[in-house]
Amino acid sequence: MQRTAQQALEPTADPAWVLGQHGSDPLRDSSRESRFAVSNGFLGVRGGRTINRLPHTPVAPRTYVAGLFDVFGPDQPISALVRAPDWLKLDISFSARDSTITVDDVSFHHRTLDFRRGALLTESRITRLPGLAVRLRVLRLVSLHCRALGLQLVQLDVNAGAVEATLVASFEGVEFGLVAEQLEQGLGVWRTNSSGKRLAMAVAATLWVDGRAVAPKALGPFKWAWTWATSPGQAVCFERMVAITRADAPAENPGHAAQGQLGSATAVGWRGVLDEHEASWAARWQACDVLIEGDPAAQQALRFALYHLNGAANPGDERVSIAARALTGPDYHGHVFWDTEIFLLPLYTLTWPEAARALLIYRFRTLDGARSKAKRMGWRGAMYAWESASTGAETCPEHAIGPDRRIVDILCGTQELHISADVAYAVWHYWQATGDEAFLREAGAEILLETARFWSSRAQPEADGRHHIRGVIGPDEYHETIDDNAFTNVMARWNIRRGLAVAALLRQRWPERWATLSREIGLDEAEMGRWASVASTMADGLDPQTGLFEQFAGFFKLETIDLASYAGRSVPMDVVLGRERTQTAQVIKQADVVALMVLLPEEFGEATAAKNFGYYEPRCSHGSSLSAALHGVAAVATAAKLSHSTG
Ligand code: BGC
Ligand code: BGC
Repeated sequence: MQRTAQQALEPTADPAWVLGQHGSDPLRDSSRESRFAVSNGFLGVRGGRTINRLPHTPVAPRTYVAGLFDVFGPDQPISALVRAPDWLKLDISFSARDSTITVDDVSFHHRTLDFRRGALLTESRITRLPGLAVRLRVLRLVSLHCRALGLQLVQLDVNAGAVEATLVASFEGVEFGLVAEQLEQGLGVWRTNSSGKRLAMAVAATLWVDGRAVAPKALGPFKWAWTWATSPGQAVCFERMVAITRADAPAENPGHAAQGQLGSATAVGWRGVLDEHEASWAARWQACDVLIEGDPAAQQALRFALYHLNGAANPGDERVSIAARALTGPDYHGHVFWDTEIFLLPLYTLTWPEAARALLIYRFRTLDGARSKAKRMGWRGAMYAWESASTGAETCPEHAIGPDRRIVDILCGTQELHISADVAYAVWHYWQATGDEAFLREAGAEILLETARFWSSRAQPEADGRHHIRGVIGPDEYHETIDDNAFTNVMARWNIRRGLAVAALLRQRWPERWATLSREIGLDEAEMGRWASVASTMADGLDPQTGLFEQFAGFFKLETIDLASYAGRSVPMDVVLGRERTQTAQVIKQADVVALMVLLPEEFGEATAAKNFGYYEPRCSHGSSLSAALHGVAAVATAAKLSHSTG
């Protein structure tokens, strides 16, 4: 039987599958809107209000399109994600006895993010208007089955008769940030100012009153109005479908593609779109859901994380990767960091290898950008961008305004080198887990070799007979321009060795491919001999007496600070102490040696792992949300090792 709009608007009842939130709080709405975002890896829509947004809640829901980067003017000469027009705006009003009432959905507003169904459902009720009771229920999704599609479904129950109701559906921000090339009633095509990308949006909207479609009045591009007379018990349903496409080359016509996608969607109707979307989510949950018994809060939190992870990836687009904030907001401008390879990729590699592969092919496609960066900085091989957008060129801003309003230099783009080993690490682990030979031969091997080559040039021999990597930033970004960061150096050594391992593998199993690749990148035996000696003489900060890795040269001599005595703080430790003092103190932003324990456990013996964890954990201030997860994994692994050795 066909399901009714009423049924479609009912969130999953089990609280472990949903996140709910009641009311509005201007101070917290922005972070909530990120949390309540719906996404499919191509489109991301923040969880903002769509209906009768009042002047004091001006923030539109914001739709982001993966890969839609533009370079902005002199104030911000870096690539940043541009937002697409907001396709969800609705204004609903009622007229009776010469007065018009606009539905104010702030008076009662409940939103539910339904992880299982991949949808945001909201309910608003207006009961304070004399003689007029209105209930509004809205579903919003971007399809996991056909990633170009968005659906908005609205059910309006008006418990009063003889009132004239008007619903206006429009787009907001049509003029914002992009240059319009074509604007028609139901189709828009825009181009970015300078990055050569284009965006198209095609839309269809229908209003049904008691099962009959009402004819709209077209008010201009993307704007329609419907007017009807209410009657008690009347069922009003509004549906809007949008198809959004991006084009990266001038010859591609995103308008045709958007219209084609919209045509297929309207042919199956909202029920068809919803069914296919939910079937795709069911398949994802089938592949990755984890059941936790006896801890409902942990179950809900885990599903929340899995929901966003599954909504962030897109196996169909190898030209984009996942930004630090995915498509949930403007922070970090849509740039891709090590977060993707180290924190997200393990889940995809193990439960969704097609998604993992696309993300790694993005790194392959941006290899030229990484080679150019290395060359520009005087090194060889591939030096990946700390922050990456479309081409792989470095997009890390050079300055920012610090908490004390002073302008501070950002050195990550030139000093936070570990990203290159992190990419190599993800390539190797994907290959180990999947055995995807075609990937290794055609893409992965070249990444491993070019990053190995980078490290072999970047590490310099010194009088002590060892190779050193000076002037870097490790995962702990509170300390800049440091020498021999253990995380960086040990990962670099591992990367060089994996480069040598992949060379040996290719030579043995695919000699023709090896012949072509080694010729193309100009790699010979003599160079690989040098790599081996760099790896075997790499300084790594391990003190054989104590078994402790020194986070970087000189770290042990820095001022110790009792972080426990700052337990009640509401700001990060570098703000409490100030930048200068933080730099001279043993206060760590996030897992660094602890991160190394998680990534390369074989570098730590049973007792050394516990010892390093015991030393570094109390010194960590968890100034990044990435920190706790690695500490969690390290703690579990260390405890397991200890119980194994004592038991
Ligand atoms: C963290 C980095 C991370 C970046 C983006 C920073 O605060 O220190 O490790 O890559 O945020 O999430
Ligand atoms: C992050 C860096 C980043 C910089 C500029 C900082 O908050 O910690 O990883 O490069 O912002 O985006």
